[in-house]
Amino acid sequence: MTEIRRCPDCGVTMEAMRIQTAEGFSLQLVTNERKKGLLGGLGLKEKLEPTAYVCPECGLIRSYAERDESE
Ligand SMILES: [Zn+2]
Repeated sequence: MTEIRRCPDCGVTMEAMRIQTAEGFSLQLVTNERKKGLLGGLGLKEKLEPTAYVCPECGLIRSYAERDESE
């Protein structure tokens, strides 16, 4: 899931990019909050996937933690 983000300096639409390692592994932010419902009861923690937004004008990178609802 991606949203439209604008560069705070240039006001242009930033391009969404996935953050991953050179080996192709994606990164996850693991919170201390438990998942809701049954999965939380099993001790699974909430995971957030960072999405980077890059400004094509000035090169600014902003990353946002977006909730992974697929699990
Ligand atoms: Zn910019």
